[in-house]
Amino acid sequence: MNSSIALKAENVNKIYRQGNEKIQALKNISFEVRAGEIFGLLGPNGAGKSTFINILAGTVNKTDGHINVWGFDLDKNPRQVKASLGIVPQEINVDPFFSPKNLLEIQAGLYGIKKKDRITKKILELTNLSDKANAYTRNLSGGMKRRLLVAKAMVHQPPILILDEPTAGVDVELRRKLLESVRALNKDGVTIIYTTHYLKEASDICDRIAIINSGELVALNFTKELLKNNSDLEEVFINLTNK
Ligand code: ADP
Ligand code: MG
Repeated sequence: MNSSIALKAENVNKIYRQGNEKIQALKNISFEVRAGEIFGLLGPNGAGKSTFINILAGTVNKTDGHINVWGFDLDKNPRQVKASLGIVPQEINVDPFFSPKNLLEIQAGLYGIKKKDRITKKILELTNLSDKANAYTRNLSGGMKRRLLVAKAMVHQPPILILDEPTAGVDVELRRKLLESVRALNKDGVTIIYTTHYLKEASDICDRIAIINSGELVALNFTKELLKNNSDLEEVFINLTNK
């Protein structure tokens, strides 16, 4: 695989089965994410964004298709794929009784990272949490907890960071700080895959954008190109998804 490709999805399908009912959440999805870019994965509620991310995370099995992450095949080398990805899930789930610093140290331990190789201080800086390093996590704001999830996802220094709706329910100021952290990580060389339903945010931060609707890829282009013939991303989105 070309070394400048961070992630490649080929003809990925996902069918959920519930009793006799079948829900096709992903329909023959193919796309590539380039190393070093901020790639937006957009789509209305129920489009299949989280399904795709959960397949990468290994919590959902794809029905068929191929996924390659950082040169590793998801089916053949799941451990290497896991090591190449940092994933910030849609739900906030952090232990309230530890400090951010302790949580990151515990996470590093889970990944078997030796004390001398840990980058806890640097991650706290990149996510703007240095002054909260020793605070109780339960006392952090929603936006800070999100950034802590980003920090946690970066402990094993994956080359690719995936964020699933990280700014949902976060106020404007905290959203700005989270985006700052994402940009800082990207400047540091991390490839970002970013899911959001805030279109303004996506057009501000993403180099390229894929739009999925009802499980199908309906657009994939540079943000600039998508905006060329439309006043904003909202218009592109409405035209493509009828929502
Ligand atoms: P998004 O993250 O874009 O909002 P999802 O990937 O969560 O979309 O959902 C895509 C479709 O798959 C939806 O129709 C949703 O109801 C369905 N779905 C998601 N998870 C499951 C599941 N565990 N079992 C059955 N259907 C599911
Ligand atoms: Mg989702």
